[in-house]
Amino acid sequence: MLFNNKKQTFKSLLEQTLYFPYRHLMLIAVLALTAITLWLDTPEDVSHTQAPKPTVSPQIAISPEKTEPISIDEEASKEVHEPKIELTEVVPQEKKEDKVAAQEKVVIQEKIVIRKGDTLSGLFDHYNLGQATLIYLLSADESLLALETLQPGHILFFRYKEKTQDLEEMELYIHAGHRVVYRRIAADAFNYETIIREGEWRSKTISGKIESNFYSSAQRAGLTEAEAATVTQIFQDQLDFSRVIRKGDTFQIVRNVQFIDDLPTGQTRIDSARVQRRAYEHTAFLFQDGRYYDKQGKSLARALTRTPLGKSYRISSRFNPKRVHPITGRVAPHNGTDFATPTGTKVLSTGDGIVTRVGNHRFAGRYLEIKHGGRFKTRYLHLHRILVRKGASVKRGQAIALSGNTGRSTGPHLHFELHINGRPVNPMKAKIPRTQSISKKDRSIFLARVAQQTSLLDAPNKTTKQKTTKIAINETQQNTNKKTN
Ligand SMILES: [Zn+2]
Repeated sequence: MLFNNKKQTFKSLLEQTLYFPYRHLMLIAVLALTAITLWLDTPEDVSHTQAPKPTVSPQIAISPEKTEPISIDEEASKEVHEPKIELTEVVPQEKKEDKVAAQEKVVIQEKIVIRKGDTLSGLFDHYNLGQATLIYLLSADESLLALETLQPGHILFFRYKEKTQDLEEMELYIHAGHRVVYRRIAADAFNYETIIREGEWRSKTISGKIESNFYSSAQRAGLTEAEAATVTQIFQDQLDFSRVIRKGDTFQIVRNVQFIDDLPTGQTRIDSARVQRRAYEHTAFLFQDGRYYDKQGKSLARALTRTPLGKSYRISSRFNPKRVHPITGRVAPHNGTDFATPTGTKVLSTGDGIVTRVGNHRFAGRYLEIKHGGRFKTRYLHLHRILVRKGASVKRGQAIALSGNTGRSTGPHLHFELHINGRPVNPMKAKIPRTQSISKKDRSIFLARVAQQTSLLDAPNKTTKQKTTKIAINETQQNTNKKTN
């Protein structure tokens, strides 16, 4: 599991190495160098309050195409560029003994760069952290599901007191703009803190001409597969890319890339898109409310509905950042709204979107996540059955699942979450766009945005720096969340 490459023979390793393109050899060299550096540098003592300074993995720095976290199990096979060479970025156990076990506060840190084939369970075995500890962490992660999307290049930091060897803290470093720290609060429990940095967004115009189809032409021009899918999803109601797009049609896309401390985090966003086909022109502009509009200000997607159900059901538990969990008895954020639905109730997507995650979690049960346009995401937990696949395009009102009672649950219900800009908000109260067009009061701001984006669409391959346009969230931030910049 952890080191499944042991099975690999030296011969095949040699063959692989010989046939690696130059880029991969470079990657191996960089990784090996990182491994050596890490071996020399760690473990280092860090106090609980000190902010860790994680070294950015070379994979993070050079893979700006990853827009969405993907499950390590489902997508591992796609990560073919990972060199199958045993790396010693893992700190040898005996190094720990070199440290002087002095004060209570002294914390040992170990840093693990996730590689293809790694599982949390395997890592916990390897570091002797205990499977029980992992279960306490997964329990804390039920309301976040961040550990569900571990993928190669992510970094884990294990921190523990030298005396006890008990895990005190685990940090998941997704990228420089997104970290989660799990802290032990009792012998059998952890809580978490999400640390998000906005950094700076730089936009770049990507343009191209259709050769055979939009997907391949967009990727040749520099978009990732996921970004090409986003563009087709944005235009799904007015443009059938497989039928009406022809050779010679052109497109321009303004893509925004997040940078923190001058390094790309891998997070990207489509700010505007334009497709020109003969006499027709199709445009999409992302507005501050998180939706895409055409240049006249008409929304390209239907407004989100408040609830994901065909009729109204009793709310059995409300969104509450400080809820006492009905099963564990501990205070933990309840990041969604629970509806008392009998098992088998149809769950409807609250908006047009793309299915970004489908999974089965020990505590959250069968779950589903949908991304709606630029800034909204919805999640549906404890499902009985899921009716859509990851990557599928869904419409508002479409049946996506049947509610159930899977995972840790006191009875059949549907747990529904709404996220704005990566943060859970109260789905019953959050400000969500309800109309089909830009309102009168926002019109001048919108038109200014259209003018600014159009000038970028007209000037291909120009990179512009800009600060993030933040969307107002009329919700109290969770106390477990902290925003830094
Ligand atoms: Zn719930």
